[in-house]
Amino acid sequence: MVSFEEARTIVLECMQPAGIERVHLLEAAGRVLAEDLVAPWDLPLWDNSAMDGYAVRWQDCTSTPCTLRVTGFLPAGAKADGIAVEAGCAVRIMTGAPTPDGCDAVVPVEETDDGRQEVTLLETLKKGQHIRCRAEDVAAGVVFARRGARIRPPEVNMLAGFGMALVPVYCRPIVAILSTGDELVELGCTPGPGEIINSNTLSLAAAVQEVGCIPRVIGIARDSRESHLEKLSEGLKADVLITSAGVSAGDCDLVRDVLEELGAKQMFWKVGIKPGGPTAFAMHGSTPVFSLPGNPVSTMITFEEFVRPALLRMQGHQRVFQPIFKAALRHALNKKPGKVQIVRVRLEKEQGRWYATSAGNQQTAILKTMVDAQAIALLPAESSCFAAGDEVNVHFYGNHIELESL
Ligand code: AMP
Ligand code: MG
Repeated sequence: MVSFEEARTIVLECMQPAGIERVHLLEAAGRVLAEDLVAPWDLPLWDNSAMDGYAVRWQDCTSTPCTLRVTGFLPAGAKADGIAVEAGCAVRIMTGAPTPDGCDAVVPVEETDDGRQEVTLLETLKKGQHIRCRAEDVAAGVVFARRGARIRPPEVNMLAGFGMALVPVYCRPIVAILSTGDELVELGCTPGPGEIINSNTLSLAAAVQEVGCIPRVIGIARDSRESHLEKLSEGLKADVLITSAGVSAGDCDLVRDVLEELGAKQMFWKVGIKPGGPTAFAMHGSTPVFSLPGNPVSTMITFEEFVRPALLRMQGHQRVFQPIFKAALRHALNKKPGKVQIVRVRLEKEQGRWYATSAGNQQTAILKTMVDAQAIALLPAESSCFAAGDEVNVHFYGNHIELESL
């Protein structure tokens, strides 16, 4: 048995970033940059007006009110070639238009009488005011986004501003999902006596998608060597394989043996966590294989703690673990020392402090508690009793929107 921390280290050490592809900006949100991006030109490319108003020579306007002759008009999109601000004159200019020669200040229209032939400036002005200078945002040659950065709308905006329609990102791994067990029927069938619906495939596909990868559903391996050989071989063609169930010590638990027969190298089996103990991890060549326990709660929790960080790392993410923070327990919690206990909790924030309440019955087979939980409390292996008010480490579960309130 390996510890929780050892298991995570082993998994991450085996992860290689997926390949690199170039995707259109419309497809790029949420992906991870695979190269540093260098500005191909200055941004902005020319000095331009930050306001609708008048381009002026500052030295003409040192005492206000003053009146200037309006000699031109520069809307956004116009060229400033051949237009200049002469002594005692102003050029009417709109936001974003290039500032003309001679201009060293822009006066907002609100600080004038809005005149068309002549304009009277009402307020004092500062030299250089309301001019956006060439390269003040980003100068040509500067790295404006780094490899490993997640592409958000701001990155998309800047890439588009530089005319870069295609962006180099890490590929989204294809993740094969295989369930095992004679008791399983597929969604859409009515389960007969002793049968249950293969719900793990669906929730694993949801989790794989949520983390940015592409699920490939392999179906169900029946509890026979032949069926396992066939389905595991099919799953091993993907970039990653996740199996659920058949990985404990039961008579029909064939996953590990058949994986070994297919040439996979087991990196660990059994982790010091509860629930989720009988998790196995193997490498088949360069393909990671996660064999997760079959109880839906265990499957989801082991995905969250081991597979999610691995899939994020493969996609080039730098921060792959959920942010851990402290929450005070609303009530006592007991556990046996020896394993990390994973408790499904609800969180509340009061006066800047987080509080955790058990989301319900913590037995592995109770799925509703998982549905009701927002977060996971990680009780250290060596710990035993926790009193109400004790602080524990918690993290939100999955892509939780409340991360933003941290
Ligand atoms: P096993 O590891 O094969 O002993 O399965 C552990 C438990 O998880 C059993 O109660 C199974 O019925 C249940 N289980 C296994 N596979 C699935 C699945 N794909 N969807 C839902 N429950 C499952
Ligand atoms: Mg089984």
